[in-house]
Amino acid sequence: MAFNKDTISTILKALNLGLITGFVVGLAIAVIHIADHRLLHYSLYNLMLFDIKTIVTDYLIVFALIILALVLLDILLKRILQNSALQELDSQGSRSRIIHAVPISLVLYIVIVLICYSLYPQIVESLKNTELAEPLRTLNKSELYKYSALFILLIVTAVSFIYAVSLVLVKFGIISPVQKKLSAVTNSKLVQTLGILIVGTVLLYNGAIYGYKELNRPHGPNVILITIDTLRADHLGSYGYRRDTTPNIDKLAQKGVLYEYAYSQAPWTMPSMSSMHTSYYPTQIKIKSIKSKIHDNFITLAEFLRNNFYKTSAVISNIVVSEIFGFSQGFETYDQTPLRARDELTSHLVTDKALEYIADNRDNKFFLWLHYMDPHSNYIHHPQFNYAQDYNGLLGKNVHSGDLNKIRRSLDNADLEYIKDLYDEEISYTDMQIGRVLDSLSDYGLENNTVVIITADHGEELMDRNRFGHNKTLYQELIHVPLIIYMPSRGEARATRSKSSVEIRSLAKTIVELCGLNNNHFGGENLLLIAEEKTADTYAYSQKPIGRERYPKLEAISSGKWKLIKNIQNDTYELYDLEADPGEETNLFGSEDTDKILINGLISKSSAIEKESVVETAEVEFKEEEIEKLKALGYIQ
Ligand SMILES: [Zn+2]
Repeated sequence: MAFNKDTISTILKALNLGLITGFVVGLAIAVIHIADHRLLHYSLYNLMLFDIKTIVTDYLIVFALIILALVLLDILLKRILQNSALQELDSQGSRSRIIHAVPISLVLYIVIVLICYSLYPQIVESLKNTELAEPLRTLNKSELYKYSALFILLIVTAVSFIYAVSLVLVKFGIISPVQKKLSAVTNSKLVQTLGILIVGTVLLYNGAIYGYKELNRPHGPNVILITIDTLRADHLGSYGYRRDTTPNIDKLAQKGVLYEYAYSQAPWTMPSMSSMHTSYYPTQIKIKSIKSKIHDNFITLAEFLRNNFYKTSAVISNIVVSEIFGFSQGFETYDQTPLRARDELTSHLVTDKALEYIADNRDNKFFLWLHYMDPHSNYIHHPQFNYAQDYNGLLGKNVHSGDLNKIRRSLDNADLEYIKDLYDEEISYTDMQIGRVLDSLSDYGLENNTVVIITADHGEELMDRNRFGHNKTLYQELIHVPLIIYMPSRGEARATRSKSSVEIRSLAKTIVELCGLNNNHFGGENLLLIAEEKTADTYAYSQKPIGRERYPKLEAISSGKWKLIKNIQNDTYELYDLEADPGEETNLFGSEDTDKILINGLISKSSAIEKESVVETAEVEFKEEEIEKLKALGYIQ
C-alpha cells in the first residue's frame, strides 16, 4: 500500500505516544527492579546504571513496536473497509450478515482449536511455551501437512473473527470517539516534543554507558567457573582414582592448585550452588527445599562482577539452577538451552554454547559460569569410553538412581561395578567436553589471562550407604568435591596440593579478590592464600537443613583429617579419621581429644551462622512443565 504524507505523520504521532508510554513503564519497572535487588543498599551503582539502560531501552522498543503494529493494522482495516464493506453495510441484509459473522467465525475458530488440541496436544502445549520446533520434529511428513493445514485454518478463522468484529465496531460508531480522543493527545505539541526528547535521551544514555564501560575495562583476568553436577572427588584421576577418568581436568590440576579436602555446603544442588553464588550458608538464605529460591535482594557473585564491568554469562543444564530459582541474577546472558530430559546428554551442548560465548567475547573481560549435568543420574553408557564392556547382566544402558534404589537388594557385585562404570563414562564424557573449552582458550590466545576453576555441587552415593543418589547424608561421597584453581599468573607448572579443609562457598570471595577487586560482600576465606598457607588451617562446614525421621537434619565440620557429623534431631555425634578411615566406617566419637575441638568449632560456627541469618525468603511458583521436569529428575514426588 502507498503511504501519503498524512499517513506517515499519523504513524509518527502514534509512535511518539508509544515511546512515552514505554519510557514511563520502563522507568517504573527499573525502579522496582533496583529496589527488589537492593542495588542502592549494596552500593552497586554501576549495576543500577546498566539495568536502567537495559530495562528502559527494552520497554521503549517493545512499546514502539506494539504501537506501530496497531497503527498499521488500523490503516489496513480502514482501507479495506472503505473500498468494500462499508458501502455494502448500508443495506439491512448485509448488516445482519456482518453481525452474524462475529459468533460464526468465533465458533469456527474454537472448533479448529479443539481439533488441533485433540490431534496434537503436545504441539499445542508447546505453542504456549513458544518451543514449537522440538515436538514438530517428532511428526512424520503426512502428519506435518495435516497439522499445517489445520494451522492455516486456525489463522484464517482468527483473522475472519477480528475482521468481523472490527466491521461491527466501525459501523456502530464505537471506534471513532476513542480514536478522536487519541488523536487529540497525539496531535498535541507537548506529546510530540516529549517523544523526540525521550528518544534523544535514551540514545545519549546508551552511548554514555557504552563509553563508561569502555573507559573502565577491568584489570583482572577472565574467569571461567565450571561446576559439574554430582561429581564425587574420589572418581577423578587427580584425586587418586584407579581409573584415568579425567585426563583434561587432571592436566589443569598439574598447572594449578588442587584442594584435597574441598567440601560443598550441602549434599544437593540448590543449597550448594546458592551458597557458592552468595557465600552464605544455605540456612542463612533459607534455601531448604525445592520451593526455595535465591531472593532478589541477595548480592550474587555475578552481580558484583558485572558492577565491576565484567561481561557476565552462564550456560546451565540443570533446571535446579535455572532462572526461576534466582540463579540468573547478575548475568547479562543466561543460557538455559542445554536443559534436557534426565536421559539425554547435555555436556556437549554446554560446551558448544561456551565456545560461542568465548569466541564472541575474546576481546572483553568476562566471567563465564558453566554448569555440566551428565554425571547426574541417569547414568548413560558411552561406547567411546566403554568402561562397562565386560558386563552381561540385566541392567540397561541407561539407568536411573531412583529405579536402582527400588531393586538395590537384588543387585550383585557385577551390577554395582557396572553402575560405577556407567557413572565413570559420564564423568569422562564431561571431562572430554571440558577439554574442548580448555583447548579453545589457547586457540584464542586467552590461556595467559583466564583463570579456570573446576568444582562440583555435591557427590553421589553408589551404594556407599546402601543407596544411590544424593541429599540424604553428609558423608564424604556426598560433600567431598573436587576443587581445582588454575591461575596463569602463578607461572609455569607449579602444582600445589592443599590439605586444608576448604568450603566451596569461599569461591565468591576468592574470585573477587583474584580479580583485584575490593571485596566487601562475600564471606569465607581467600582459597589462594590458604593454598599458600598464609591463612591458618580452617574448618569446612556443611548442612543438611531439612530432615525426616529416617534421614535427619545434620551438620558437619571438618578440619584436616578429622570430621565430625552432628545429628541435630537426636543431638548425637560421629567422629571420623578420614586418613585412616576414608569410608567413615568407624565412629571414634568419645575416644579422641579431637572431639572437644571440633565440637567447639561446630558450636561457634552454628551460632555465628544463626546471628548472621538473613530473614527474607522467597518461594517459587512452578509452571506445569517445570513440575514435570523436576519430577523427572526426582526432585519432587
Ligand atoms: Zn546437583
